[in-house]
Amino acid sequence: MTNQIYEKLENIVIIGNGGRENSLAWAIQKNKLIKKIYIIPGNGGSGKIKKSQNLNLDYKNKNLLIETLNSLEIDLIIIGPEIPLAEGLGDFLRSKNFQVFGPNSNGAKLESSKSWAKSFMRDANIPTAKFWKVSSPEESEKIISTAPFPLVVKADGLASGKGVFIPETKEDTLKITKEILNGKFGNSGKIVLLEEKIEGPEISIFALCDGRKYLLLPSAQDHKRIGENDKGLNTGGMGAYSPTPILSKSELSIICKEIIEPTINELIKKNIEYKGVLYFGLMITKSGPKVIEYNCRFGDPECQTIMPLMDINFVNILYKCAIGKLNGDEKVFSTPKVSGCVIATSKGYPENYDIGYPINFNYEASEDIQIFHSGTSLNKEGETITDGGRVLSVVCQGEDFDSVFNKAYKVLKGISFDGIYYRRDIGHQVRKNYSYEDI
Ligand code: AMP
Repeated sequence: MTNQIYEKLENIVIIGNGGRENSLAWAIQKNKLIKKIYIIPGNGGSGKIKKSQNLNLDYKNKNLLIETLNSLEIDLIIIGPEIPLAEGLGDFLRSKNFQVFGPNSNGAKLESSKSWAKSFMRDANIPTAKFWKVSSPEESEKIISTAPFPLVVKADGLASGKGVFIPETKEDTLKITKEILNGKFGNSGKIVLLEEKIEGPEISIFALCDGRKYLLLPSAQDHKRIGENDKGLNTGGMGAYSPTPILSKSELSIICKEIIEPTINELIKKNIEYKGVLYFGLMITKSGPKVIEYNCRFGDPECQTIMPLMDINFVNILYKCAIGKLNGDEKVFSTPKVSGCVIATSKGYPENYDIGYPINFNYEASEDIQIFHSGTSLNKEGETITDGGRVLSVVCQGEDFDSVFNKAYKVLKGISFDGIYYRRDIGHQVRKNYSYEDI
């Protein structure tokens, strides 16, 4: 692999303020070429990552943003979250001749409109659950009374991972559908998607794309529900592990042929130049893998989980995607280790929670332990305080998942803030010898 396709790759900007952006910065700073990483706006932990600095700037202030990017001689901009991607920040920065990792708004529609993504999959013959699109209570009643039960109810637009419900009765299905149509998620719920409920283990696949070619990252599995044993409300993600041993080589090859390649081909067919990461949320059903959802960015906390497995050339690969020059055979990850992440949240998340509690860190640091801040900030005294629902991502690597999660839970014992909560069963599918009572 060569670094010679570009003249300079020194100064990086990452847009976003969560654990994902911190883990990207952490993986990128390892490359010797990189001099400086600016995180806009970052959080209480991002300024502590080597070579990294927060820029307290609103990306929506377009003139100031461009002025700043020019004065800092930025070589590559990575857009982390879905909202700026859906709003067209990628389109705007590209129009000003910056190299950007992250799709334009037309590509981000794969995530920002679930019904659009479903039609896209139908056009490309990509396996997915059956669906019905509704926009009025009358339509919903008709579908819910005739379609096979149970149904999954989804707000069409962006809802921070909280817009999906799997009600236990038809009455509840209709109730939540009406609530969404009546504005529970604002404009994101003007259309509701009712989906056939499919079953099987879930996995996440990330493909780095340059518009035509792609490169797979290690597979990961996250835990969406707030409670142990996968009970309770859906969240942005409570933990993850990678790689996922449930996937065989032949299954992966089916996924490439039936899902990933048809997706990229359909994007090309629709004239969408997709330069960024394509996330496939899949369910491995008895009749084969099916797409549950697309994301147009790295998933959080899967990103934090896989970044420590990345090769030091990771940033070069992101750049190659941005300029449309991926070979497709670059080495992305280089360690035989496995990785796991446990998220510590504020009490009350994913519903209402308080912020502003000081966080105490008391654990023994080591190379195989990273604490990526998700929702933190610094108070006037410079102390780290809670500033979000998901507060910290505790990530560890090791030879096997038992040692990884033993380490992660030991670290968590040394971390405290008022109302700290985390699931004790993250990675239960791949852990062998553990007891929740010890955690
Ligand atoms: P999504 O935000 O679309 O990924 O949905 C969140 C979670 O809801 C998924 O990770 C699944 O666990 C579940 N889910 C979504 N769609 C379906 C479906 N059609 N059948 C079964 N479970 C689903």
